[in-house]
Amino acid sequence: MQKMRALVKERAEVGLQLQEVPRPAAPAAQEVLVKVHKAAICGTDVHIWNWDAWAQKTLPLPLVVGHEFVGEVAACGAGVDDLEIGTRVTGEGHITCARCRNCLAGKRHLCIKPRGVGVERAGAFADFILLPRPNVYRIAAGIDTEVAAIYDPLGNAAHTALEFDLVGEDVLVTGAGPIGLMVTAIARHVGARHVVTTDVNPQRIQLAKAMGATLAVNAAQVEMKTVMQQLGMQEGFDIGFEMSGNEAALRQMLGCLNHGAKVSLLGIFTQPLNIDWNDIILKGITMRGIYGRKMFDTWYKVTSMLQSGLDIAKVITHRYPLQEFRTAFEQMRSGKSGKVIIDWR
Ligand code: NAD
Ligand code: ZN
Repeated sequence: MQKMRALVKERAEVGLQLQEVPRPAAPAAQEVLVKVHKAAICGTDVHIWNWDAWAQKTLPLPLVVGHEFVGEVAACGAGVDDLEIGTRVTGEGHITCARCRNCLAGKRHLCIKPRGVGVERAGAFADFILLPRPNVYRIAAGIDTEVAAIYDPLGNAAHTALEFDLVGEDVLVTGAGPIGLMVTAIARHVGARHVVTTDVNPQRIQLAKAMGATLAVNAAQVEMKTVMQQLGMQEGFDIGFEMSGNEAALRQMLGCLNHGAKVSLLGIFTQPLNIDWNDIILKGITMRGIYGRKMFDTWYKVTSMLQSGLDIAKVITHRYPLQEFRTAFEQMRSGKSGKVIIDWR
């Protein structure tokens, strides 16, 4: 049996192991084997590394983890006639059921039973990954390979940002983690007036400035009223993107939205929230939960925006060879980074 290198959650404990594991079998009909070139660490991978309560109840062990990657087609199963060996691709990490009402209606992002690559089945922190053909996505010529490695969170950001019309609007982004940083750049690119991004981490506030925020502020130190005055804003933010999963951030956002404002919520809260719903009702606010990406319209838009000048390269702050994966995870866990890339070659 041929072997390959992989980062594996072997036992119920903190960390990951670099191991030799069996290479996936030859692709069956409508499957594609992809050789991984670069992978990126997601917040989800950090939860898995930390072996927190969510990871403990979700992961079958042992498991090859990881789901953000770029690579090339290594082999195609029967019936895959539109990809060639060597085609540069990434993969959609939600394997949808193809049977539920939403899947049948073509709304795969609303599938009731998605299975997560690198969470519930073998992932991309490996030399090779096997995926169903519908989850394999061709990367257009001219797209930077590192950017292609983060199409997954970039797609989360695009899905969040493009849910509402941003042209000429004032946008508040709470949370400048990698996805909030990319939302900041997209809101700028598509024509928002002011984009204010908040965080409580100084490094991330600096990154938000670099990504094009009109103002990047420390939510713990600055009043939103002051920010609005500084920008000459009279009424409130028209659009909110909640990208932190932090209750205080959501409360702060609800306190400075205009009447009729629209909010996309991507950040995942770890406990039930204590918020005043009258803030939402009396201002006629629209709240929209965002999960994953629209398959595959979000990535179509991502590609088009990159081709027309969207620049998110600065969100990638660190790169490590596979052998230094521990340092890569430490960097990501420290919060002193944007996206961290692991090179598999
Ligand atoms: P991240 O955890 O790196 O970013 C969150 C940021 O919020 C951090 O920089 C943190 O300092 C900041 N923050 C904390 N308290 C704050 C406050 N009071 N005000 C403003 N900022 C504050 O995560 P990420 O990878 O960018 O992901 C963002 C969120 O989206 C996370 O909650 C993640 O779990 C979630 N997520 C959701 C989906 C989805 O499909 N819905 C997909 C991926 C990630
Ligand atoms: Zn489904």
